[in-house]
Amino acid sequence: MTVDTKIINISLANPRGFCAGVDRAIQIVKLALKKYGAPIYVRHEVVHNKYVIEELRNEGAIFVDEIKQIPSGSHVIFSAHGVSKLVKQQSRDHNLIPIDATCPLVTKVHKEVNKMYDENYHIIMIGHQGHPEVEGTMGQIDQNSPNASISLVQDLNDVEQLNIHADKNISYVSQTTLSLDDTDKIIKALKKKYPRIIGPKTSDICYATQNRQDVIKKMLADHDLIIIVGSANSSNSNRLVDIAKENNVKSFLIDNMDMFDPACLQNKKKVGISAGASAPEVLVQQLIKKIKQYTEVNLVELDGVEEKVTFKLPAF
Ligand code: SF4
Repeated sequence: MTVDTKIINISLANPRGFCAGVDRAIQIVKLALKKYGAPIYVRHEVVHNKYVIEELRNEGAIFVDEIKQIPSGSHVIFSAHGVSKLVKQQSRDHNLIPIDATCPLVTKVHKEVNKMYDENYHIIMIGHQGHPEVEGTMGQIDQNSPNASISLVQDLNDVEQLNIHADKNISYVSQTTLSLDDTDKIIKALKKKYPRIIGPKTSDICYATQNRQDVIKKMLADHDLIIIVGSANSSNSNRLVDIAKENNVKSFLIDNMDMFDPACLQNKKKVGISAGASAPEVLVQQLIKKIKQYTEVNLVELDGVEEKVTFKLPAF
């Protein structure tokens, strides 16, 4: 089909795509493959992007859900989302050699949880149930211990349902890839309910999540469609789509170009494109190429914050 629009203006968000934590995690898998040879076992998808995972799988990485699926004595890479203490213990019990690709900004949250636990706080984690980062962060505390004291809240309703004894010292942490606005609302509600609650010195939501959300907010005023390149299980990519939709701008997530339906461009004058923190630039370029098959394009790279964050690789 051709699209019934003479020319479509496309704006490319900046910053978009890979963050420092994702870049580091991918490098760790590649370096481990080079140093130890294939196969290299990775617990969970090292980052949430199907294209990246397929590429690493082709190079010899094997992704598993459970430690027991890995042959004893092998190397195991922990994903960028981090792991619980139980997973680390299981790896030791299984005689595995760990290589930790946990993003340092997730490790920061783990440290906060451990400190608050040692100081006898009840910890409230703001996050999405079932997300591996939440499992890893909540799993810093042994849930079977009689002193275990951590609750998960996903929304304002969960805050209302909380029933923590008023004498308890209470603190909160959050998943790194949440919506800034939703998290702010939850923190305000927590502070109202528990005025003595304490939180991290700086927000747990990471710089990459914040920057990508800020750009989408700027695009809302003059774009009639915002396409986000990213996989369905990528939390930060989904939050970008949410921001557009909540502000009545059409938006969807695209993981591969087979998903692209040119009908989405019908009558659109200005389309914004961004990519979640785990989505590679090659997919953004494929999307632009795909759109050009259907319509003439006027492409503009938007100015944005320059991200200079880099993380050191672990020694292994
Ligand atoms: S999105 Fe943020 S927390 Fe997650 S890997 Fe990237 S920098 Fe780290």
